[in-house]
Amino acid sequence: MGQARIVVVGTGYVGLTTGACLAGLGHRVTCVDVDEAKVARLAAGQVDILEPGLEELVSRGLSAGRLSFVVGARRAAAVADAVFLCVPTPMGVGGAADLRAVEAVVAEIGDVLPSRCALITKSTVPVGTAGRIRDLLGRDDVPVVANPEFLREGTAVADFMSPDRIVVGSDDRSAAEWVAGLYRDLAAPNVITDAASAEMVKYAANCFLAMKLSYVNAIAELCERLGADILAVTEGMGYDRRIGRSFLKPGPGWGGSCLPKDTHALVQVADAAGFDFTLLSAAIVENIAQRDRIVAKIAGAVGGLAGARIGVLGLAFKAGTSDVRDSPALSVASMLAAHGAEVIAYDPAVGGGFPGMNVVDDPYQVAKGADGIVVLTEWDEFRKLDWTYLAELMHGEAVIDTRNLLDPQAVLDAGLSWLGLGRPRRT
Ligand code: NAD
Repeated sequence: MGQARIVVVGTGYVGLTTGACLAGLGHRVTCVDVDEAKVARLAAGQVDILEPGLEELVSRGLSAGRLSFVVGARRAAAVADAVFLCVPTPMGVGGAADLRAVEAVVAEIGDVLPSRCALITKSTVPVGTAGRIRDLLGRDDVPVVANPEFLREGTAVADFMSPDRIVVGSDDRSAAEWVAGLYRDLAAPNVITDAASAEMVKYAANCFLAMKLSYVNAIAELCERLGADILAVTEGMGYDRRIGRSFLKPGPGWGGSCLPKDTHALVQVADAAGFDFTLLSAAIVENIAQRDRIVAKIAGAVGGLAGARIGVLGLAFKAGTSDVRDSPALSVASMLAAHGAEVIAYDPAVGGGFPGMNVVDDPYQVAKGADGIVVLTEWDEFRKLDWTYLAELMHGEAVIDTRNLLDPQAVLDAGLSWLGLGRPRRT
């Protein structure tokens, strides 16, 4: 296979990364979006999202003439070898994935696709979607291929270029193999399978990660109640190669644009298949309880939330991204405000505009007159704060570190108290 003509529909975290990286691999890529202003910015080389290496890849693709950005997919689709669907699949009614954007694109381009052009879902779509797309298309000469994406926000380009695996599924085996060939320059194991299995891999993996986090949050809660230290416990667990070290850090709950919607969608899919997925439902319930427990913990540490002034460090759903979609940090901060606290927040990548809180652009500003400071996102820069100076600015002395991020001794040396998660309180 030589250079392929590729259309990528949707230029968000997944689509833009896919388009820019495929152009970087030598393919000719047209990226499409409905957002005209975004397309104009991208065509000028401006990338809105915080992703290391992405802007460089985009400008290299643009100047090499291998990457372009347009509104409307029909023209480019009519001469494409492959079309990647990277549009949103948000949580819809009752928790099921909302496939309207996917269906809209299929309706837009279905009749112009050349024969044998691969129509590929990179969006996360429920098992059975490939079949649904085939029905919508009403064509036998266009293979539908599932190629789920596993990149993480904040490390999207590196994850795309060095994936743990490439999963491609289709009921047309040769089409799946052809799509896998688009990535031939990446050194990664290929899993080539049927469409339903490929679609399922993505949900099974994401839901497993969510369950792992809910589990570790529950173990941290138990550690606290029983006098054990979660750091030692997870270190001891992580050495077990069957478990591994990743996703073993407790926090204010899992969130972001994927795990919440994907867990709900799989519960829904299971339900529709007549299977009550109680294990996964419990992980979702546990995740909501975690946010409540964090708020209660903060309330206890500052002697009640009504009228308290709380400094919040971190609003993004995790470090390294400006994304606040379904962010547990933002949700805890909002809950504090809803309980009557005055919330002053700082995040290195997130601006203001959230009801009930004042977002400032300097971490030290959150401390002024604060009864307590809460760390909600694990940004490395919070580790390096001058706690003596923060203590001088504060009114109270409580530091609640929901990520176990800080050096407790540095906080204690500043005359403050430190309360982590699943760890003994230090005063
Ligand atoms: P996003 O919201 O960042 O971007 C989606 C883009 O699609 C937007 O630019 C939007 O304007 C555009 N769009 C919407 N409807 C369109 C249409 N009809 N035609 C053209 N463009 C359209 O979304 P994302 O985070 O990139 O996620 C996309 C999909 O990838 C979802 O299914 C998600 O679950 C999955 N996914 C996301 C991640 C992640 O970390 N964000 C990782 C793996 C998989």
